[in-house]
Parts: sequence; structure tokens; C-alpha cells
Amino acid sequence: MKLSRILSNRNGVSRRNANFLIASGRVAVNDLICRDPAAEVDRFSWVRMDGEIIQEAKTCHYLMLHKPAGFLSATLDDTHRTVMELITPELREDLHIAGRLDRASTGLLILTNDGRWSRQLTEPRIKIPKVYRVGTAYPISPDTPHRFAEGIWFEYEQLTTSPAPLEILAPCEARVTIYEGRYHQVKRIFHAVGNRVTALHRERMGTIWLDHTLAVGEYRPLTAEEISLMP
Ligand code: URA
Repeated sequence: MKLSRILSNRNGVSRRNANFLIASGRVAVNDLICRDPAAEVDRFSWVRMDGEIIQEAKTCHYLMLHKPAGFLSATLDDTHRTVMELITPELREDLHIAGRLDRASTGLLILTNDGRWSRQLTEPRIKIPKVYRVGTAYPISPDTPHRFAEGIWFEYEQLTTSPAPLEILAPCEARVTIYEGRYHQVKRIFHAVGNRVTALHRERMGTIWLDHTLAVGEYRPLTAEEISLMP
């Protein structure tokens, strides 16, 4: 939000007066005087005028959850349990999911209240690798790595997916890396080669690996390093 708007959201401060107060150097953002009324200020910054608090900085939360099967990646649902029910209520408020998993899928799920940060993980254009362990209904044919490397045509989106490296681990088990994260992408690329996904477990997003010490359904805050390693 623009700094002038934050100030004028206070009763009795007009937009014009806000501009004047800011330009005259009475307003600080995170303890630094800011004279630009149009400066963009997020919810995670302190704003003070003559030392008086105008906006209290919200705390950023970044969590990794070991998602169990059977939980929806949603904040609210009438029918199914959601992953938010696994998070303590004090933290739950305000969080969103950075890259959903289907209800039956398991593994790494990241939750945060920092939208700017999470967009870097989920924006298809940024091409963050997402690594999945996959179980299939039928043996994976030897030409599947080649087919995935060429990209799969998605009729609905009218696009060809980015190459998706595939490592075959057993006749019906593989590790696949996708770079976009489109709707049901892993299931759809296997379907396109005549197979069917029966199990899907996310191991990694970008540089963040699922912590093996987390039991299914448990979560922990991301470390400073995990947060900062994102581009
Ligand atoms: N692709 C899918 O098909 N499902 C998921 O849960 C994640 C990626």
C-alpha cells in the first residue's frame, strides 16, 4: 500500500495532509525517514510519525508441513478436513498455501503469510523445480523420460509443458521434476503417456527439502537459510 494511504487511513488525516507530512520528513518506515508519499510499504513494515506508531509490523511466518493424505490444500471446506486444521490457531490466521497438493498427495507443503515471497515459488514463469516421488498403476515405459523431456501438450491451456526430467526407480515408481506446477500437472503428464498416478509425494520445492524428521502431519518453521535461498 502507498505510504500516503497508510497515513490517510487514520481518522482525521486527509490524503493531501498525509502527502505534506511525509514530504516534510515526519514519517519513518522501519526507522528510516521516507519523504516519498508514493512509496510502497508492506504489512511487514513499521510506520511511525513523530515517533508515534501508525502501523505495527506484522510478523512473517514461513512453515513447512508434512502433508498427510486425505487433507485438502485449502483454508476452508464444508466437506473435507483441510491442512489448516493441522496448524495451531494462533498461526493459522492469515496463512496461505504456496503450491497446493491434491487431497490424496503427501509430502512438502509450504504455508506463509508473505505473498511476495510465495509468488516466487508458485509463479510458472519463474520455473522453480518441484520434485515428486510417483507411484504408477502400470510399469513406466522406457520412452517416458524422452516424452517428458519433449514436453506434453496441454489442450486446455494450449501449451507444451517444460521438459520434466524423469528418473525411473522401479517398474512402477519414479522421481519426476516439474518446473511449472500447473493444475494436476504430474497426473496429467502420466495420463498423456497412457499411465495413471496412484501415489504422489512432494520431496522438494526449489532449494527446500521436506525435513525427514517431521512426522506425517507435523510442521516446523522454515530456517532463515531456507527462506533466503529462494530466488
Ligand atoms: N501434480 C499433481 O497432479 N498433483 C499434485 O498434488 C501435485 C502436482
